[in-house]
Amino acid sequence: MDKKITIAIDGFSSTGKSTLAKQIAAHMGYVYVDSGAMYRAVTLYAMENGLVSPDHLDREALIRNLPDVKLEFRFNPELGFGEMFLNGINVEKKIRTLEVSNLVSRVAEVSEVRAKLVEQQQHMGENKGVVMDGRDIGTVVFPNAELKVFMVASAETRAQRRFDELTQKGEEVTYDAVLENVQKRDHIDSNRDDSPLIQAIDAIAIDNSHLSKEEQFELVLGLVKEAAQL
Ligand code: C5P
Repeated sequence: MDKKITIAIDGFSSTGKSTLAKQIAAHMGYVYVDSGAMYRAVTLYAMENGLVSPDHLDREALIRNLPDVKLEFRFNPELGFGEMFLNGINVEKKIRTLEVSNLVSRVAEVSEVRAKLVEQQQHMGENKGVVMDGRDIGTVVFPNAELKVFMVASAETRAQRRFDELTQKGEEVTYDAVLENVQKRDHIDSNRDDSPLIQAIDAIAIDNSHLSKEEQFELVLGLVKEAAQL
């Protein structure tokens, strides 16, 4: 029988990591973990407690309050994946707004926040059979993952996808604001001191600018099968 493996999917903002990760997890019967949702939930906590705004981050207070931030994924069988709960409340919708997207990279720079989330992520992946997407999964969270994928696509392609997603949900945003957010987050994520977004040496890069979701899925499924039969 094939052994269960760990699959790390990293890459820039809005490269379709979560769509791909969910498809692979469903197909393989693996657990899907959206690590970005965890950083978003901590950001929401900071917003709701007045610890972060566009021109301010109270690092000390955030670090002090971290023990009060309880994060969990609760599996929703209708959706087929876990929804993010912050201190017992479903925040799945709230964490996807552009307002959270505009603040999350600042919160994700705080090493204490990262240490807490990485520990929880490693715990969730302890038994393998997990597909996790994020920015530092192949480099920091699971450096020994059997398969590491690094997703890239042009900023314009990514902004258009994110814009379509947000407007479909009824959020009033402009394409330019979304493009600016995607570029800003890429910049902060790639240049931070702690766990910057970089391609792991042993990751396979996939540019999906011109791939359909199906083509991308087939391509990565092939890699998964290869890695699982090692
Ligand atoms: O994946 P998503 O776009 O939802 O992630 C939101 C933000 O959370 C990223 O832009 C990044 O700042 C942060 N993040 C991170 N490390 C991860 C996942 C997300 O720093 N593993």
